[in-house]
Amino acid sequence: MIRRLVLIGPQRISKEDKIKKVLIIGASGFLGNKLREVFSKEFQVYGTYYSNPIKDLIQLDIRDEVKVNGLIEEINPDIILLTAAITNVDLCEKDRDLAEAVNHKGVETIVKYSKNRKLIYYSTDSVFDGEKGDYKEEDIPSPLNHYSKTKLLGEETVKTIKNHLILRTCMLYSDQAESPKFINWLIRSLREDKKVNVAVDLAATPTLIDDLAQATLALVKSDKEGIYHASGATALSCYEMAMKIVDVFKYDKSLIFQCKNEDLKREARRPKNSSLNISKLEKEGILMSSFEQGMRKIKESLKKSGFFDNYKTLTKCRICKGKNLIKYLDLGRIPLVNNYVSLQNNAKDDPRFPLEILYCSDCSLSQLSIIVDPSMMYTNYFYRSSISKTFKEHCYEFAQEVIRSFNLKNKDLIVDVASNDGATLQEFKNFGVKVLGVDPAKNLAEIANNNGIPTLIEFWNEETAGKILEKYGEASLINAMNIFAHVDNLDSFLEGVNILLKGTGVFTIELPYLLNFVNKNEFDTTYHEHLSYFLVKPLIYLLNKYKLEIFDIKKFTIHGGSIRVYIKKEANNTIKVNHDSIKWLLELENDLGLHDINTYLTFSDHVEKVKHDLIDLLMKLKNQGKVIAAYGASAKGNVLSNFCGIDKGLIDFIIDDTPEKQGLLTPGNRIPIVPASYLKENKPDYLLLFAWNFAEELMGKTREYKNSGGRYIIPIPYVKII
Ligand SMILES: [Zn+2]
Repeated sequence: MIRRLVLIGPQRISKEDKIKKVLIIGASGFLGNKLREVFSKEFQVYGTYYSNPIKDLIQLDIRDEVKVNGLIEEINPDIILLTAAITNVDLCEKDRDLAEAVNHKGVETIVKYSKNRKLIYYSTDSVFDGEKGDYKEEDIPSPLNHYSKTKLLGEETVKTIKNHLILRTCMLYSDQAESPKFINWLIRSLREDKKVNVAVDLAATPTLIDDLAQATLALVKSDKEGIYHASGATALSCYEMAMKIVDVFKYDKSLIFQCKNEDLKREARRPKNSSLNISKLEKEGILMSSFEQGMRKIKESLKKSGFFDNYKTLTKCRICKGKNLIKYLDLGRIPLVNNYVSLQNNAKDDPRFPLEILYCSDCSLSQLSIIVDPSMMYTNYFYRSSISKTFKEHCYEFAQEVIRSFNLKNKDLIVDVASNDGATLQEFKNFGVKVLGVDPAKNLAEIANNNGIPTLIEFWNEETAGKILEKYGEASLINAMNIFAHVDNLDSFLEGVNILLKGTGVFTIELPYLLNFVNKNEFDTTYHEHLSYFLVKPLIYLLNKYKLEIFDIKKFTIHGGSIRVYIKKEANNTIKVNHDSIKWLLELENDLGLHDINTYLTFSDHVEKVKHDLIDLLMKLKNQGKVIAAYGASAKGNVLSNFCGIDKGLIDFIIDDTPEKQGLLTPGNRIPIVPASYLKENKPDYLLLFAWNFAEELMGKTREYKNSGGRYIIPIPYVKII
């Protein structure tokens, strides 16, 4: 079996150097990841993953003897680091066969085929019963739960190898803000003003993951053997840990509530005080951080990643103000996807923010869990409406339709909110009506003004509406295309509409429809600017509050699926209401389960599947030596690629037709953006269509590429090659 193995590091190896090979089994996990980073600076590192495909890693199930044997033979490592294990203590209690198969039998398999190679095995503080604490290496283990029992059996197995090193560690934590580990969970909860219950009668020595990786490296380099305790230097109770976090991070103490271990009602028993004594390790000259030092390091690192900056957490529903919000989608921490990076700024870190959607069980509005400071997102905006032909046609048809239907004349004022570069208003202007744009993005407003579309550089609210009323008079039509979903304060937005709109005027909004979002798996339209994900049901609720009434709704396929909603003042009886179109959509939403949280939970499983399938496919193609590029450095492409962890290693470049984006890098994963002409001289084997909603248009534009054998990957609604 020939497999293309990818070497992770170091970069420069001359023929004379005999750099040792290290195989990390479980390299995609919490600890494995860090070991990969630390060891690849000094060794040739190979790594395996089990269920989540990661670039450069090899799939391996340690229960598969044939594969384990084949892989070790093929790589022929000098050193094996074994981190793969089932570490969920309660799961091990429930599924004892699984724990036994992986944590014990799996280790036996590795030991069998590792032959005389050096093997480093990670074990746990919970091999002790926790009755005394401050455990030394020679203290007698006495495990309380099934997880610990299987880990101890793992230790016994590893000890049969002469050249073994066993590291017992305890309660790992890291600077990864979204890590599920206990300490990271505490930091996150307190950051979000959530109350936490922490046990006063459980104590441990929490360990900074960087310290454990460095300790491993030092012990390996000095070729140490036997058992070492490698944990943090401070023993403290869970309650004391929380209090220390509050102290270092300056959080609110009153969020912390004391409880007892038994109150937590967990499946498996926990040792009361499993703190480890690390004096043997310290004698080797290896120092581990105290808990306070660890917290300070993490705080510094989180600060750099933007964890503390510039956003507020949603505490109640944007529309109905209810508090029954349930999280159903979690895309991790994602950079602002419209903030493209210049080559000069390549070395700076992009701030990243959680990207999660909550469902309001009272009014059915889906909404982001946080609101990023708008000034970070809108002052220089790169999405230009006039670039897409499909969009221009859409605007032309819209202008023609409303001008005819509502009999708009030369004297009528049309106001476009978030008018972008003036593409929509240009179509109206061609019909001879008066137009005015409002947009906070300076660069776009300037383009519009230069093209003869008068545009104010403002956010839309009551104040802006009042100013326009004074200077230009009432508006016959206010249009808000693809902005409504971006607005945090919808109350102020609608107050503004009420101020400026004529009694007989029409207010139109166009917005992505959640029905398509869920049904067609369009999760890549989740980004920090996009605060609300609308259905008709919550929209009616909202408009009622401002005595505004929907009189018609139309569905479109543009942007993957949108609705245009036609709205009038309630008191206006000159326009007939199309009750059927509204009722039809309301019933459809209900029939499809969109007023029920369970539908959304299923949707989020589909999202995970796309991620898995896409990465799997790209890695397979890459391993076959194929070259992959992408089309469309759009917000959605940047969400999808950052969520899936797609970077320059998988995709060589991204084509985009917006001249302002060309020569820049995508936010987060920093893939270079180039014009379409680049395709001629650098023909990839596959073109991944990030702008899959314009697939037809893009394939038309790249006919030459297609005719010369190029293929396309469409990621959504499911991954396919055409
Ligand atoms: Zn609500």
